Amino acid sequence: MQTSLPPSFRATPQGEAADAILRKCVHCGLCTASCPTYRLLGDERDSPRGRIYLIKGMLETGAAHPTIRKHLDRCLLCRACETACPSGVEYSHLFEIGRQELEQRSARPLLDRWVRRAPRMTLPYPQRVRHLTRLTRIIRPLLPRKYRDNLPLAPPAIAHGWPQPRHRRTMLLLEGCVQPVLAPAINTAAARVFDRLGITLEPARGCCGALSYHLSAVDEARDFMRRNIDRWWPSLERGAEALVITASGCGAMLRDYGDLLAGDPHYAAKAARVSALARDPCQVLMQEDCTAIRAATDVRVPIAFHAPCTLQNALKLAGVTETLLQALGFNLVPVQDPHLCCGSAGTYSILQGPLSRRLLAEKVKHLEALRPALIATANIGCYQHLKQRARVPVKHWIELLDPGAAPTA
Ligand code: SF4
Ligand code: SF4
Repeated sequence: MQTSLPPSFRATPQGEAADAILRKCVHCGLCTASCPTYRLLGDERDSPRGRIYLIKGMLETGAAHPTIRKHLDRCLLCRACETACPSGVEYSHLFEIGRQELEQRSARPLLDRWVRRAPRMTLPYPQRVRHLTRLTRIIRPLLPRKYRDNLPLAPPAIAHGWPQPRHRRTMLLLEGCVQPVLAPAINTAAARVFDRLGITLEPARGCCGALSYHLSAVDEARDFMRRNIDRWWPSLERGAEALVITASGCGAMLRDYGDLLAGDPHYAAKAARVSALARDPCQVLMQEDCTAIRAATDVRVPIAFHAPCTLQNALKLAGVTETLLQALGFNLVPVQDPHLCCGSAGTYSILQGPLSRRLLAEKVKHLEALRPALIATANIGCYQHLKQRARVPVKHWIELLDPGAAPTA
């Protein structure tokens, strides 16, 4: 694609990157069929190619029309288009450049700004999420059913705890922000599974910063990243082998720390090391002798696995968890259109409710088509979102490997 970006913008790092990405796109449209919003809405401006044109037009002319925001806001950033694109167009990178330019050139309406600010003020802080779930419990009975079912509740306390540190091999486990409150069993299960493999997982506190980043609060996101690096660095210096992340959305963010802090002379090297050490648990387990692992369920029961977009398209780990579970004997059923997003997508389910619910309905229909006994996934956002509609239990796959028994010596 030919470009004519203004020389002043073209000379900036963002301008240079945008120009290179735009030039790679040959407008073939092969990405459009994989785009969930194009499939739902049928409007070229809600397709990857259409959004690329909208961003290109804005960057070339400087005109930030509200229509551009409407179509960019509808993008899930699922990156299915990147996986489908034969020309290697880094859509998500271009999208972030375009979105930041748009935010600078045209302010959002006040109400819109507050609606987007509220999740940033609450969700990255576990204590605030805890207060929110208590409030939810009080107001829930007063609400109509359709709202009641969408409100998250904190689960009861879990019976089995984090194992005592006892192994020479250690890794850090990112606890996250929402997950320790809404689904604490996931990280505990990971710690117990790794314990059986001879690895002690040390809890690492902190919100990865993805929520702020994807709501265009880039400086705030970088502050989260720097705080996390300071917090985790002593353990990494003591020899922790990896940083394990059970939420693939946070894992994708950690993988980008190196790029996002590349311009910070104090943190660039440390951020690059954090990115290099970030691992989804499936990557670690694929490298280990898993004979000590025991299943928490009868492995013959049919399980539908929902692969989060961040696992497939950002971390490029499509099929790895499925291969691992099958090697451990689990019975995974085929799922139609596994590349399509469930509609969770960070705060998308809050900010784009109707579209998100349509995607959820289609995803659950496909996941439950072959009557699985449960649905397994790999990201807290998808986990919470699928639970709203699924008729069978939803679990993180690592929970399937933790029967809750005392760890073996
Ligand atoms: S992003 Fe890739 S697949 Fe989509 S139109 Fe451009 S070159 Fe084709
Ligand atoms: S990131 Fe997902 S929703 Fe956005 S354009 Fe690409 S495929 Fe469509």
